Amino acid sequence: MKVLLNALKSAPEGTKKYQREVHPPQDLKNSVQPAKVDFTATYTGNGILITGQLETTYDTNCDRCLKPAKKEISINFQEEFRQMESSQLDQDEEDQEEEDDEKEVVLDSEDLNVDYFSGNELDLTDLFRQMLILAIPPKVVCQEDCPGLCPHCGVDLSSKKCQCKGMDIDPRMAKLQELKKDL
Ligand SMILES: [Zn+2]
Ligand SMILES: [Zn+2]
Repeated sequence: MKVLLNALKSAPEGTKKYQREVHPPQDLKNSVQPAKVDFTATYTGNGILITGQLETTYDTNCDRCLKPAKKEISINFQEEFRQMESSQLDQDEEDQEEEDDEKEVVLDSEDLNVDYFSGNELDLTDLFRQMLILAIPPKVVCQEDCPGLCPHCGVDLSSKKCQCKGMDIDPRMAKLQELKKDL
């Protein structure tokens, strides 16, 4: 997924719109749909500004009742990439001291949220894939007020009332007893 600097420079107002699909990494392939990414790339004079939205659906199981649950994911993002001259990079390799000087300039505090690229190509594949991974919520519930499973008998409380009501077992004690059984 590449944005070409030359294409932006020659585009009206230095701006182009893109629509792409981002595929999740292998281990998330079965639960995360390919994400739809809509973004605008703008030539800033010394780099490229990316703004847009990433959308996908996450199929998983409810954290409380374990039934299948879906979560729509939508992230808005804005990232700035500044161009580093490739001649600058070559020079850095030759002259170590000069590289150190330049690095100090590059890592100025207000530049910390800025990434760099060199040449004509800005490859966004890793950025979008990283965004997708970070957007996966650790826990999903099928509905906000899902009552979950009875901690004693395991009955799904959204469809059945269990027989444990009134037995007044402290769930922490039940856990302890289970642990004892395992010992
Ligand atoms: Zn649930
Ligand atoms: Zn129960």
